[in-house]
Amino acid sequence: MRMKSLGRSGLKVSVVGLGCNNFGMKIDQAETDRVVAKALDLGVTLFDTADAYGNKGGSETMLGKALGTRRKDIVLATKFGLPMGEGDYMKGGSRRYIVNAVEASLKRLGTDYIDLYQLHFPDPETPIEETLAALDDLVRSGKVRYIGSSNLAGWQFVEAAFIAKERRLAPFVSAQNHYNLLDRKIEHELVPAVKKYGGSILPYFPLASGMLTGKYKRGLDLPNDGRLTQWGERGKALLSDANFEMVEQVAVFAEKRGKTVLDAAIGWLASQPHVASVIAGATKPEQVEANVAAGSWEMSAEELDEMNRITFRF
Ligand code: NAP
Repeated sequence: MRMKSLGRSGLKVSVVGLGCNNFGMKIDQAETDRVVAKALDLGVTLFDTADAYGNKGGSETMLGKALGTRRKDIVLATKFGLPMGEGDYMKGGSRRYIVNAVEASLKRLGTDYIDLYQLHFPDPETPIEETLAALDDLVRSGKVRYIGSSNLAGWQFVEAAFIAKERRLAPFVSAQNHYNLLDRKIEHELVPAVKKYGGSILPYFPLASGMLTGKYKRGLDLPNDGRLTQWGERGKALLSDANFEMVEQVAVFAEKRGKTVLDAAIGWLASQPHVASVIAGATKPEQVEANVAAGSWEMSAEELDEMNRITFRF
């Protein structure tokens, strides 16, 4: 497994990580155990979850159980900020909330430290200074090792970097945002900001929820157990003609090289210097196996140009 540095930090992460939002939602504890065991066997070290996943807490609880004593071997990433209950005190980026949220996550995960603690969404009602200062205290206390952002705009990442520098607070070392071959919008503003100010991108929805796995084919019946089939109208939006056209071109590009659409989707992200780890979600051990294998494709300059020609559409 290839390892990469997370932003301008000393932390190394596996180039293919495991997204854990299916745990407690689409898959139960026994299936989670199998998916996590496969990822550990294959050298995955970054496991990404959030307090809200799995109906508020289920994913963290199941991940903690599945890792057991192997927790010490991996980089455990979780998030806070989405509502975990009713009212103003159960969400957001305030000091009051963060201090409680971290304790609840530690308890569910069955650990006494979190490697990467991420602000899940910007909180427009809390000054970012307050969020950063509260997170810095957690870093100094040892409960958290590094901090990251998620769903910030480019200017918000820069603002946070400036404030952290000015006030000597721990900086965000990562930005987790929506990014895949079908959606490259963050390359406008966020990617240049993160590159300049010392972070890495952790792309979420790297497989466009399955659209980039090759298992959905235009004109053929949808697989019964696929996420996009089960998502109904939301799934249909991704199964559009424009997306199929692009996926078909990616398939031709990949097949010429003895590879698949899935290989190209993960290999392309893994080949970007600004991407540290591709946190693909999985519901079965075989998916983890395929996703890890795909991460070994380091695309040449010519291959990256060709991918730009096929997918660059803004
Ligand atoms: P994704 O990686 O684009 O899609 C994962 C889904 O695709 C799997 O659940 C599985 O669904 C299918 N799949 C995966 N590997 C496959 C393979 N080899 N062959 C066939 N199908 C395969 O989307 P995601 O899991 O939602 O996103 C990745 C991670 O990003 C999440 O787990 C989460 O940790 C994080 N995330 C973060 C945010 C945020 O706001 N920060 C938002 C969303 C996600 P089926 O088997 O059900 O088809």
